[in-house]
Formats: sequence, structure tokens, C-alpha cells
Amino acid sequence: MRPMRHRLSLDRINYLMVLVLLPALAVIAARLSSLRSTLRDKRRELTHALAEVQRLAITDELTSLPNRRWMIERLEQEQRRCDEGDGLFCVCIIDLDHFKLINDRLGHAAGDRVLREFASRARAALSARVMRARWGGEEFLLLLPGLDATASHDSVARLAMSMAAWQVDGQRLTFSAGIAQARPSRPVDETIAMADSGMYRAKDAGRDRIVVAMPTDDASHTSDFTLVG
Ligand code: GH3
Ligand code: MG
Ligand code: MG
Repeated sequence: MRPMRHRLSLDRINYLMVLVLLPALAVIAARLSSLRSTLRDKRRELTHALAEVQRLAITDELTSLPNRRWMIERLEQEQRRCDEGDGLFCVCIIDLDHFKLINDRLGHAAGDRVLREFASRARAALSARVMRARWGGEEFLLLLPGLDATASHDSVARLAMSMAAWQVDGQRLTFSAGIAQARPSRPVDETIAMADSGMYRAKDAGRDRIVVAMPTDDASHTSDFTLVG
């Protein structure tokens, strides 16, 4: 009789333990599941925040175009491809003409709107393959992969034509541009400098034009390119 009574009381203790432990375990499991879900949400938020920081680091805030930092990486990448014999490309530097007058006449905010509008016109008028960036101030840089100087000139001329009907304060907004074709095994900075020289020649020649810097082997030239346009 005694062992039987003993077993009964043990069963009762077990039963009581189960009665207490089961709900406690259920509460712990629910808490763990909620913690896991909070952790998942936080990780997702962190991933989005990181992606946003990365996007901001390569984007020009005013125009939403890629910025200079992004473009320098693309230019170096494209130059490496060119060095390996895997494709030609051109660089074009665009500078808006008499932009300071827009700020002076209409104010800085209006100038900002014009820069944004130019960026969106450049997006619309150029092929999707052409990479664009705000290079600084009212200057933009285009990287034209797979195009030689002549084809690049045609692309940039199309952009100029797309702006023909655009007036700011009753005046046409124009730009001056310089184009240079990259050369294998030459630093990309050299191509950028050639495009820049083209742009300044376009300014000196009266603005609203495109000048191509052509490489030359002629030793009589002081620099190793000539400007055409
Ligand atoms: P040019 O035809 O010789 O290029 O004449 P320009 O007036 O365009 O050139 P300049 O270098 O004299 O003036 C450039 C102006 O661009 C001056 C500067 O205040 C303005 N600018 C640069 N960045 C911004 C910007 O983010 N917003 C606005 N509104 N103006 C800017
Ligand atoms: Mg300028
Ligand atoms: Mg300018």
C-alpha cells in the first residue's frame, strides 16, 4: 500500500510541475519569437539605412545625378577595360554658358531649378548607355562607352538640339562642351584634361559649341592633341 501512495504523490508533483512549467515555457517561447521578429525588423531597417547611405555617397543631392566620386570610379574602370583592349570610350565635359547671369537675375533657387532641369534633359536626350555625373557647380561629365569621338560628338549635339526650345528668362540656355577619346595605357586624367581643354576652347570661340580634342603624333605641337570644332 505504501509504495502505491508514494507513486500517487509523485504523480501529483509531476502533474503540478507540468501545470506550472508548460505555461511558463509557452510564455518564454512567445517572448523569444517576438524578440526574433524584432531583430529581423531591425536588421531590415539597418540594411535599408546602409543602402541609403551608400546611395547618398555617390549621388549629387541637387540634381540626383551620380556625383564626381561615382564618376571617377567608372572612368578608372572604363580605362582599365580600354587598357586591356576591351573597348573604346569618350569623355565629354559640359559647362553651362553664362550660368552666373541666371543666378544674378533670377536668384540662386532659380539657378538650382535650372541645374535640375538640365540634368533631367540630359537623362532624356542621351542614350541610357551614356553615364552622366554632376562634375561640380554648373559642370557635367559624360562618359560615352563604345563611342569614338565622332559618334560622341553626335550624341552631345543631340543633347544641344534638345535644348534649343528651352528658354530661361527669355534666353536660350546653351552649353560649351569638350570631348576627348580615351587612349589605351594612358591615365584617364589625361583624357579628362583634354576634354577640359576642348571645353575652354569652345568658350573662347564664342560658347554654344562642341570641341573635340584629337590626339596627334605631330611633334611640332606643344601638346599631344589638337582641338577641332
Ligand atoms: P561661362 O559661360 O564662362 O561658363 O560663365 P558662367 O557664368 O557659367 O561661369 P562662372 O564660372 O562665372 O559662374 C558659374 C556660376 O555657377 C557661379 C556659381 O555661383 C554658379 N553655381 C555653381 N554651383 C551652383 C549651384 O549649385 N546652384 C546655383 N544656383 N548656382 C551654382
Ligand atoms: Mg564652370
Ligand atoms: Mg559656366
